[in-house]
Amino acid sequence: MAKHSPHSPRRSFIKKLAAGVAATSLAPIATRAQGGHHTSGSKLGIALVGLGNYSRGELAPALQETKLCELKGIVTGTKEKEKIWADKYGIESSHIYNYETFDSIADDPAIDVVYVVLPNSMHKEYVIRAAKAGKHVITEKPMGLDAEECREMITACDQTGVKLSVGYRLRFEPNTLVIEKTGREQLMGPVRYVQSEMGFRIGNPKQWRLRRALAGGGAMMDVGIYAIQGARYSTSEEPIAVRAQEFKTDRVKFAEVDETVTWQMEFPSGVISNSTTSYNFKLNELTVSYDKGRAGLLPAYSYRGVGGHVGNTVLKPAPINQQALQMDDFARCVIQDETSIVSGEEGLRDAIVIDAIYESLRRGGARVEI
Ligand code: NAD
Repeated sequence: MAKHSPHSPRRSFIKKLAAGVAATSLAPIATRAQGGHHTSGSKLGIALVGLGNYSRGELAPALQETKLCELKGIVTGTKEKEKIWADKYGIESSHIYNYETFDSIADDPAIDVVYVVLPNSMHKEYVIRAAKAGKHVITEKPMGLDAEECREMITACDQTGVKLSVGYRLRFEPNTLVIEKTGREQLMGPVRYVQSEMGFRIGNPKQWRLRRALAGGGAMMDVGIYAIQGARYSTSEEPIAVRAQEFKTDRVKFAEVDETVTWQMEFPSGVISNSTTSYNFKLNELTVSYDKGRAGLLPAYSYRGVGGHVGNTVLKPAPINQQALQMDDFARCVIQDETSIVSGEEGLRDAIVIDAIYESLRRGGARVEI
């Protein structure tokens, strides 16, 4: 199809943008976009797939702040949302799709990136359909229901030559980056121990997060993944073994998914981590113990207000928008033809750990090597 051949106007626009970016810096593009002379084509077009809480409350507002990409399209199964979103964000009807018409997004040159914000079990299908449509893709976490799904998604994107990223917004949060750097560069000596915890008290018993077919798992899949990320970015190491334990106080509400899971991870250098995730109580903290002191973030995983300390240095919450930084970085990667630091491979690494945690639970808490 001519529209998305390598010689399409859109592709050559991206190429040109890439040349400009490579020759100078991102500043000229950012300035032009901010300067109010926005013309169609000056930013990459993003289409959000699934207009639930996260799209409505965080991603769409963040896309009003992004400099390299903008909200251009929507994919929704709810007719009433089409007008609401079109009116609110000025989305043209030619860029509005439903789940049946989604594949024709291939012929829409205004859409460069598809962002999948659906229940977990639908991520794989929509990432693969987006890749087949020739669009770069961001998918929400957890990337897939297991490592096998993630590998299929990576392969599909590789085969069609599109970039893939996972919505790990915290990897662009300045205080999180300080913690990451402190561990990676051993600024306080080697890391010895990490404690990372994320949980919340879940409400409505009818929601998809409690249905295995849609969620794939419970607290572990949904927010335990933050605690895994926390341990991984604090140490810059990959776990080599896990042991996990499960606790259930409500066997009716949590009949299909895990409620509370604790787990320990061993890392190659000898670092150990201890984590808890829950749908029954609030947790949101990261503590790192180094030879020469400690660092902590509380809250560690929220959309706003991430802050804490490294040794005696206070890490004040930074006035940034995590999702805007995350999406702009992906747009930059598309423009400059780079791999995102939160690529599909990064999503796969967490899926491998989650698979091992569930295997440990199935085997009564046995040590499972990764
Ligand atoms: P939500 O329930 O608010 O929205 C889900 C959307 O999917 C709704 O618009 C719904 O209509 C649509 N949908 C399509 N088919 C559906 C089906 N069969 N069943 C249920 N809904 C269906 O959920 P959310 O909180 O927006 O989460 C969406 C995704 O985003 C999840 O994968 C979640 O893990 C992720 N998320 C990520 C973050 C983050 O900080 N990165 C935060 C919240 C959610």
